[in-house]
Amino acid sequence: MTQPLTIALDGPVGAGKSTVSDEVAARLGILHLDTGAMYRAAGLAVSRAGVNRDDEAAVTEAVARAEIAVRYENGKQVTLLDGEDVSEAIRTQDAGSMASAVSRFPGVRRQMVFLQQQMARTTSMLLDGRDIGTVVLKDAPVKIYLTATAEARARRRLLQLEEKGEHPDFEAILAEVNARDRQDMNRELDPLRQAEDAVLVDSSDLTFEETVRTILRIVEEKTGVSAAGEA
Ligand code: C5P
Repeated sequence: MTQPLTIALDGPVGAGKSTVSDEVAARLGILHLDTGAMYRAAGLAVSRAGVNRDDEAAVTEAVARAEIAVRYENGKQVTLLDGEDVSEAIRTQDAGSMASAVSRFPGVRRQMVFLQQQMARTTSMLLDGRDIGTVVLKDAPVKIYLTATAEARARRRLLQLEEKGEHPDFEAILAEVNARDRQDMNRELDPLRQAEDAVLVDSSDLTFEETVRTILRIVEEKTGVSAAGEA
């Protein structure tokens, strides 16, 4: 069997990791594993268990008891908690903040990292998250650190919410983006940071298509693998 192709893509909240990763993986014909969805499912498990998010032992145990899994339907990730499809339920702001809270704990991270490494061992995948290039796939042949200014990320989030018919306040979203950055970058264990061998892509002034093409170019330079239809 040839070695599977693994791509590590990390970056802060709202940098467009999920949508960009989906598109890059689709054009390369490989799967995309959104690891944030797994931490969100872990957060949901903790909420459902009625456990205090600051109680490390109780949180770790609730996550250990939960069965968090990912399967693919027509190439699309379905995230499961105890056999239930929670792909939609984990998309709330609340689930995101819960995920950020429970992901501070080593016992939780260990469980998620193990599952992620297991999946990437046998299948060509692009994994997106916070610690993929620094912890999960230290030897990945391609590492990308995708970022944008906090203002650009908050603006995108605002547009997304407006498209859903909501009328959020920009300053409140910006504060949430900054708070999440602080939590993810300053936690003791596996904080969000750019791996030394990761290529920085700043999407503040790039369109979606430009961002995708920039990453595909880096993948091709590093591995010789190009997307279907790319020159
Ligand atoms: O990417 P997303 O916003 O869905 O991730 C939710 C939270 O899960 C992040 O704020 C982060 O705290 C945590 N996370 C993590 N490691 C990953 C992916 C996500 O700690 N690889």
